[in-house]
Amino acid sequence: MTNTTDRRARQKRWDYLRQVGRPSLVTGTPEVEDTRQMINDLHAKGMSYRAIGAQVGVPASTVSTFAGGRAGILRTTLTRLQQVQHEARPDDGAAGARVDPTGTQRRLQALWAAGFPIGYIRQAMGPDTNEPYLRRILHGRSARTHAAYARRVADVYQQLAGTNPADLGATQHGITYARNAAARAGYAPPHCWDPETIDNPDATPEWTGECGTETGYRIHRREGTEPCPACRTGRNEERRSERADAAEQRRAHVAQLLAEGRLTAAQIAEETGVSERTVQRTRRAA
Ligand SMILES: [Zn+2]
Repeated sequence: MTNTTDRRARQKRWDYLRQVGRPSLVTGTPEVEDTRQMINDLHAKGMSYRAIGAQVGVPASTVSTFAGGRAGILRTTLTRLQQVQHEARPDDGAAGARVDPTGTQRRLQALWAAGFPIGYIRQAMGPDTNEPYLRRILHGRSARTHAAYARRVADVYQQLAGTNPADLGATQHGITYARNAAARAGYAPPHCWDPETIDNPDATPEWTGECGTETGYRIHRREGTEPCPACRTGRNEERRSERADAAEQRRAHVAQLLAEGRLTAAQIAEETGVSERTVQRTRRAA
């Protein structure tokens, strides 16, 4: 009932927009191209599709599809995207500018995962550094930080990442505690990031060199590290498509044996490993 009403309302709106020369799905107009250019410029300046979309309530996937120039776009979405403002990244803007905390959070997490205790990181950042705030950023409990803070963390990260905390005076107890706690939280150490990815909210940590694939999943297992989210998802997808392929092959096999007509349904079921009901259903569908 509601669906019919919705559909009718949409149809009415669509008819109206067409009458006034504004189809609700637009593509290829100068207005579309200008907006696409603007989105690509913002992305080139370092804004992620997620950050662009989040500002105006558009999903990141819609933004990236639109930026890639492959599809038309709803006029309502286009209107929203036209309103996106450039948002400063950690490496530009005034000290007090509010910036996306992603890269700052990842640097803190990576240092912790490398074995630098939180108290050690705090001291390296300067005696006035507030530890509760540092913990909030590290655990992702703040939606924003400030450009000056992001730069301080980036400086400390540059000094410490890739070094051995034991050589720099951290205690063995502190190192072990930090590494274990970070591993339990799934935080990625410095070697998972590079300068291109660490500030990009769309990027995922590269633990294995093959993350997001079945191979990546196996490397985690071999090295005794917990498979990262990208590897878990990648493996599930590969598994799902393997299962779909296998089911498709079984169906084809059943259909072929039915067409040959030599075997009974029960025999085909046994031969192909499907249930007799499936064989009968396939026969009816043929
Ligand atoms: Zn992985």
